[in-house]
Amino acid sequence: MSTTEPEPTRLYAAREPIFPRRVRGTFRSLKWVIMAITLGIYYITPWIRWDRGPGMPDQAVLVDLANRRFFFFWIEIWPHEFYFVAGLLVMAGLGLFLFTSALGRVWCGYACPQTVWTDLFIQVERWIDGDRNAQVRLYDAPWDARKIRLRAEKWLSWLLIALLTGGAWVFYFADAPTLFMDLLRGQAHPAAYITIAIMTATTFFFGGFAREQICIYACPWPRIQAAMMDEDTLTVAYREWRGEPRGKILKGEATKSDVPPVPRATASTAWPA
Ligand code: SF4
Repeated sequence: MSTTEPEPTRLYAAREPIFPRRVRGTFRSLKWVIMAITLGIYYITPWIRWDRGPGMPDQAVLVDLANRRFFFFWIEIWPHEFYFVAGLLVMAGLGLFLFTSALGRVWCGYACPQTVWTDLFIQVERWIDGDRNAQVRLYDAPWDARKIRLRAEKWLSWLLIALLTGGAWVFYFADAPTLFMDLLRGQAHPAAYITIAIMTATTFFFGGFAREQICIYACPWPRIQAAMMDEDTLTVAYREWRGEPRGKILKGEATKSDVPPVPRATASTAWPA
């Protein structure tokens, strides 16, 4: 009888580096547009003014924690009216379920903050390091002066984006122009600096280094998402019968189109993890 202990099941795998190639097309263009809109809304909203009369804050969207009020343009919500927000969140959740069941992973693919910031970081990476092949060469290269310079440029650019992200977040909780000047003068509340530091660090790490590890290990949505899909859901999935074995097709060999199609119900069960 063998005394060899079975290999323990590993619940975590380190990230494999991925070097995506630049792509063009309708859906990529759509993704750029959605990225511009979502980032634009996030960064610009705290700076929009909204006249509510004397003695009232003139910031269009403001979470006024000190006075326990939430302003959203012409709407003012007090804690005892929070059911409005709960109702909005329920409607947003139902909308998300509807879109997922009809169009698959559109939230993950286009609008999730993790996707939007990671996509932005990847684009910055491409501007600095070059496209896929150049990135692979640089990754394998020794740490010479050029690699150190490029890495420094990339990480500083990511850090700046991350800082702006954290900075934009705190402006939702106080009058943005006043807080901005206080931050510059070093007179803002310590909570503002701590929040900016946390948001900067998480954005930098999640978008720059963790990337899809967040989706695999930290996000609850993929666990729910699969339950929303059926064989009529539009989704991009890998079908082994079309892609394997990989390599060139030799003369006389059966091509992929010769392989009989898999019944829809069977093919749809092969969702990616
Ligand atoms: S899996 Fe989660 S973190 Fe990843 S893109 Fe989807 S919703 Fe965002």
